[in-house]
Amino acid sequence: MNICKNCKTEVTLNYCPNCGNPIKLTRINSQYIVQEVGSVLNFDKGIFYTIRELILRPGKTIRQFIKEDRNRLVKPIVFIIISSLIYSIFQQLFNFEDGYVGYSFEKDSAIHSIFNWVSKNYGYSNILMGIFIALWIKIFFKKYGYNFYEILILLCFVMGIGMLLFAVFGVADSLIDLKIIDKGYLIGILYILWAIAQFFDKKKIWNYPKALVSYFLGMVTFMIGIYAIGAIIDAMS
Ligand SMILES: [Zn+2]
Repeated sequence: MNICKNCKTEVTLNYCPNCGNPIKLTRINSQYIVQEVGSVLNFDKGIFYTIRELILRPGKTIRQFIKEDRNRLVKPIVFIIISSLIYSIFQQLFNFEDGYVGYSFEKDSAIHSIFNWVSKNYGYSNILMGIFIALWIKIFFKKYGYNFYEILILLCFVMGIGMLLFAVFGVADSLIDLKIIDKGYLIGILYILWAIAQFFDKKKIWNYPKALVSYFLGMVTFMIGIYAIGAIIDAMS
């Protein structure tokens, strides 16, 4: 009798009947390396698979992640943090204009510092924005029955792709002498809205304006929220 290392069920077989974990892992050898590299290059799993599927069919891919299979996509919170990091690294490397969260406040105000933090930490601030947008989506798409956390997962995935699109256009903007970064932001946002709408139901035409309104209200309430915190700190000091 063996004990499953994953879920502690007693197991008499080679695989755990409860969670499917193999009882004995084989040692890592060349075959393992070939398989791992192969699965990345074949796009059947991992970061490239995640990006490709999210661009081609975001709604279906994320519904599958929520309801059926969580092994093939990169974990959503990791995904948004990595995508935001890629955006920030490329933004500094290629020195394109960072227009994602634009702001201009007095240099030594708390509001300035907060907005500065937001633009230096897009990974975390995207998750915070996601929380605000998710609340509005929950209201506007109530009848679909998804809970707040499932909607937050949806946003981590689609906003992550948004960041990658911003990065691609930013790099292109600085390489070729053409002002396309603004169009990049537009395309990124349009992707996000399209993906949200088709996650719920791509045939319902009203889902598209509802996605737009939820996203917009989410961004506005996020901005008002951090602005209010900054204003309170400034008023007290
Ligand atoms: Zn198990």
